[in-house]
Amino acid sequence: MNSNILEVRNLHVHYHTRQGAVRAVNGASFDLHTEERLGLVGESGSGKSTVALALMRLIRPPGKIEGGQVLLDGLSLLELPEERMRQIRLAEIAMVSQGAMNSLNPVAQVHRQIEDALRDHGVKQTKRERAEWIGELLQRVGLPQATAEMYPHELSGGMKQRVCIAIAICLKPKVIIADEPTSALDVVVQHQVMETLESLRAELGASVILIGHDMGLMAQTVDRIGVMYAGDLIETGSVEALLNDPLHPYTRLLMASLPSLEQKMAAKGIPGLMPSLLNRPTGCPFHPRCPDAFDRCKVEEPILQTVQLNRGVACHLHWADSAGKEAS
Ligand code: SF4
Repeated sequence: MNSNILEVRNLHVHYHTRQGAVRAVNGASFDLHTEERLGLVGESGSGKSTVALALMRLIRPPGKIEGGQVLLDGLSLLELPEERMRQIRLAEIAMVSQGAMNSLNPVAQVHRQIEDALRDHGVKQTKRERAEWIGELLQRVGLPQATAEMYPHELSGGMKQRVCIAIAICLKPKVIIADEPTSALDVVVQHQVMETLESLRAELGASVILIGHDMGLMAQTVDRIGVMYAGDLIETGSVEALLNDPLHPYTRLLMASLPSLEQKMAAKGIPGLMPSLLNRPTGCPFHPRCPDAFDRCKVEEPILQTVQLNRGVACHLHWADSAGKEAS
C-alpha cells in the first residue's frame, strides 16, 4: 500500500485581471506517494506550473490561491504563517524550475549561494561544516568541488542547472518539484541532468513532481502521470496505462500527437485551441475540441473519478448514464 507524502485537494488558483478572474487551476486534486515520481503534463497554459507555484505558496499578485488544501506529510501548508512556510520551503519541499539557472546571483560564487540557503535555515552552523557539506553536494550533483569558487558566468547551462539542483537538495527535502528543469538544455545534457536528479531522489528517499510536456522524457522518468487541461486534472494513471490505454479523449489525442518510431509519420496535432481561462466553456472544458462530445458534455462539468487503483478520469464517457448519451 502507498502512503502519501503530499495530498492536494480541490486547489483553486485565480489570476485577477481587469477583464476578470483567470481560473488557472480549477479544483485540482491529487496525491503524491512516498518516493513516487509523478509527472504533470499538458499544453502550455494548462495550469501545471501554477500548481507547482501554489504547492510552494509562491503565487504572487494578481494571482491568488482561492481555495483548497495542500497537506505535506499531514501539515496543512496553506494555513501556515508565512515565516513558518519560508522555513518549510527548501527544508521540506523544494523546487527546481526552468528559469532557476537564471535566478543564480551573477556576482556571488557558487559556495556563497548555497551557504545563504543553509544559513537562512539555521543548519550547518560552522563555516567548516558548511564548506564540507557544499563540497559533498557539488560532488553528488556531478560537479567538481572547485565549482564552489566559480561565478555563474563561468558555468555552462548544464552546470548552472546542477548548481540549482544542489541548492534544492541542500536541506534534503521530502518533495522536489521540477518544473521543466531541463528544457533550456540540449538533449544529451537533459538526460544527464535528469539521471542526476533521479539518483539524488532515490538517495534521499524523496518524492518528485516533474512538470513538462516532453512525453518521451516523462515516460523514462516518472511512475505516474497526471494530465492537465484548462486548469483541470483530467486523467491520472501509471505511465504504462496512459501510453497504452488513455481513457480521456484529450489524452488520446495527446498520445496520438507524439511522433511514432514505427510509423515515422507526421504527428497529428490536436485540433482547435485551449479555451480562454477567463471565459471557460460551460460543461466539460474540452467539449469544443472533443471528437466524442455529446449533449451532456456542454452543460455538466465532469469531475475526476477513480476507475481503478491509481487510475482516474474526468469524462462523461466513462461515467455517463449511457441512456442519456447522444452524439452531438
Ligand atoms: Fe469529450 Fe464529453 Fe468526455 Fe469532455 S466529457 S472529454 S466533451 S466526451
